[in-house]
Amino acid sequence: MSEKLLFEHTSKKNDDFYLPPSDVPEEKPAELIPAAWLRRDKPRIPDIAEPHVVRHFVNLSTQNHHVDKAFYPLGSCTMKYNPKINENTSALPGFSCLHPLQPLDTVQGALQLVYDISSWLAEIAGFSAVTLQPAAGAHGELTGLMLVRAFHESKGNPRKTVLIPDSAHGTNPASVIISGYESVTLKSNDKGLLDLKELEEALNPEVAALMLTNPNTLGIFETQVKEICKLCHNAGALVYMDGANMNALLGLVRPAELGIDVMHFNLHKTFSTPHGGGGPGSGPVGVVEKLVDFLPTPCVTKAASGYTLDCDRPQSIGKVSTFYGNFAIIVRAYTYIRMLGAEGLKKASQNAILNANYLLSRLADKFDQPYDMTPMHEFVLAGTRQKQQGVKTLDIAKRLLDFGVHAPTVYFPLIVPEALMIEPTETENKETLDAYADYLLQIAREAEEDPEKVKQAPTKTPRKRLDEAQAAKELNIRYNFKGAK
Ligand SMILES: *Cc1c(COP(=O)(O)O)cnc(C)c1O
Repeated sequence: MSEKLLFEHTSKKNDDFYLPPSDVPEEKPAELIPAAWLRRDKPRIPDIAEPHVVRHFVNLSTQNHHVDKAFYPLGSCTMKYNPKINENTSALPGFSCLHPLQPLDTVQGALQLVYDISSWLAEIAGFSAVTLQPAAGAHGELTGLMLVRAFHESKGNPRKTVLIPDSAHGTNPASVIISGYESVTLKSNDKGLLDLKELEEALNPEVAALMLTNPNTLGIFETQVKEICKLCHNAGALVYMDGANMNALLGLVRPAELGIDVMHFNLHKTFSTPHGGGGPGSGPVGVVEKLVDFLPTPCVTKAASGYTLDCDRPQSIGKVSTFYGNFAIIVRAYTYIRMLGAEGLKKASQNAILNANYLLSRLADKFDQPYDMTPMHEFVLAGTRQKQQGVKTLDIAKRLLDFGVHAPTVYFPLIVPEALMIEPTETENKETLDAYADYLLQIAREAEEDPEKVKQAPTKTPRKRLDEAQAAKELNIRYNFKGAK
């Protein structure tokens, strides 16, 4: 790395900063703390002044790509801009200094916020109630499947299997296994949609649920969702919707009205909260009336005397995380919803769809399209033509980095060969989309005329091509302190 470690910055002479002499009597640790608890060696923490700390982290932040630096169109991930006002509101002392076990009469505002955003999410998707406890989309899936199991158990038979289309996100089958079900894969049809015949044949009295993503991971709206739900319900199965793609549906479609029974949201995809380095996220789960009694406790309820916690729910699946979920993330999503309002949310989804379709229209001639469909908020191309020219999708992805933008999601969904899955999001303007289209068209030209150039990319990033297998399997992030054993 060109940037030194903080430990290496440490000033040897301790002359980086100056503190005035202390004007309170100095305590001797040895007189206050039993000798056995005193450390013998100096702690190995950097001895470094604020300006150097700031520069260190700012320099580090420019080594990698992030959504505040440039375009980051990862499909299925919704890497949209995180408004900075979210940081201000979530840092307000009235939120950030709370303790989750404070007496309820001292946290009425926080409880109201939890209550309000739950009811807004319920309204947005048409559900009867929403829990905010799950800490990620995948955790929401697990929670949803626990609710499915509790529902079927209450009817006497938990059932055995959950049906999942082959285009689904990998977390779907993982959640199915962890919740104690077996997953059964359904093949998509040639339009990239769930095949009704496949579904009919797979349904039987041991099917607990279907997990459907809509729009699906190809960015295509499942137009037959009402029939799909009817078929499942007739077989006694519930329908779980993976709502990670709600960014395409706000104000346009309410999943519960289509027959969906239970669904997770990803606040970090749809409601502008940060993805962070893998977290913390938030995956609230919405349910229709027949599943409400099974929701995790405690539930925030509103009484004449104020907001209170309802823990007395005998059929509840119990807690799925500590306290109320990732509260500071929930405050950020609350801020986003309040900022946009109902009309603004609808406009956000409309713009997300418009941006995806615009970008696709600029690329459609030069890249193969696996399915001839009008996409929603994201679309999938196949780099098959370029592969014949000797340039793989991975090479295209690396070459994009040379233009200072991030690659789309690649090699997912698994059913598309050489997949490039692009989600521009609503927060990008036409200039950014045009620039990205120009880069991709240039790369397509290079693939025809000078494939070696693409295969050698990236040449302008702080790191060139890594041996990815070695980087994944022999990752070494341990720093050897001088003098450490
Ligand atoms: C992101 C995503 C998930 C998982 O959500 P996490 O918050 O990353 O756990 C599940 N399904 C789909 C379709 C997704 O895009």
